[in-house]
Amino acid sequence: MIKIENQAATDWRHELTQAIRTLPELAAQLALSPAQLPAAEQATAAFRLLVPRPFVARMQPGDPNDPLLRQVLADDIEMQPTAGYTTDPLDEGEHNPQKGLVHKYERRVLVITTGTCAVNCRYCFRRHFPYGDNQLAQKEWDSVVAYIQNHPEVNEVILSGGDPLMLKDSQLRQHVAAMEQLPQLKRLRIHSRLPVVIPSRIDRELLDWVRQTRLDVVFVYHANHANEIDDDIATGVANLKQAGATVLNQGVILKGVNDSVTAQVELSEALFAAGILPYYMFTLDPIEGGAHFDIPISEAQQLMGKVAEKLPGYLVPRLAKEIPGRPAKTLFSPKLSD
Ligand SMILES: *Cc1c(COP(=O)(O)O)cnc(C)c1O
Ligand code: SF4
Repeated sequence: MIKIENQAATDWRHELTQAIRTLPELAAQLALSPAQLPAAEQATAAFRLLVPRPFVARMQPGDPNDPLLRQVLADDIEMQPTAGYTTDPLDEGEHNPQKGLVHKYERRVLVITTGTCAVNCRYCFRRHFPYGDNQLAQKEWDSVVAYIQNHPEVNEVILSGGDPLMLKDSQLRQHVAAMEQLPQLKRLRIHSRLPVVIPSRIDRELLDWVRQTRLDVVFVYHANHANEIDDDIATGVANLKQAGATVLNQGVILKGVNDSVTAQVELSEALFAAGILPYYMFTLDPIEGGAHFDIPISEAQQLMGKVAEKLPGYLVPRLAKEIPGRPAKTLFSPKLSD
């Protein structure tokens, strides 16, 4: 039995319009006085505050250090330049054979479908990417399809962004239909944070096309802390699995959010309980404005070593980093105690 909630009450587009966009309102929702929050005028001017209410509902009122709040809370510390932290750390400008397409790895291409997201994460490596707010136009989608046709080794398409689930399902259905026409393609992957911040995004319309496509569909969610995972998310995952999809998670190690053994263990446990397998845990990309979230890679390896001692192997995410010029993500092994 598929459990679909009353969509009139939980329509995801409505949740998008109702998202919180100002610091005073966010503070009020969490019973915090503005004085408890960092000054952030410059930071919000550079990258605006945006956080949907279902995500705010999972924050702890009265706690200015809440791990969910910290991910979305602007802070003028972002404006301090730090050596080595740049606006395009992944060198994506270099690998854009055409608008919206990033082809770095041999058998998969990444399509940047839209520049918009449902939430603005302060550590985001795409915060400076010059997307504009535009979605790929139909003509550009046609060129993406043509490009894939000319690269017969490509068997997987990754929809990314921004957040690809910002697109309407009618559009997604159309794009998927075009991909299906390419016999070389086996898999469609969707990298999205939307089902985490607005769980009602996994609605009947989305489930319909997921169920119907001949492609194997893989959703890669993005959650960084166990408190992000709740029953609504688990319901969406159960529905996706029933529609034939696989659901994985990738996260980022963030100082003050999840850089502890407890936080990592609890995240993996919560993901699995919700039907999601941990896939990657990235170290922060050296993005300008994100330095205060970073921890050294050696520390991350020690952390994941301790995590590995507490969890079954299938719940230990691969510690990884994207290093420009490499043919795959670079993996770092967990450092075990002697
Ligand atoms: C991360 C990434 C992928 C996917 O890598 P996987 O290891 O297959 O998850 C593909 N293309 C680009 C450009 C990427 O950055
Ligand atoms: S691309 Fe992902 S990490 Fe970046 S702001 Fe959007 S949802 Fe957050």
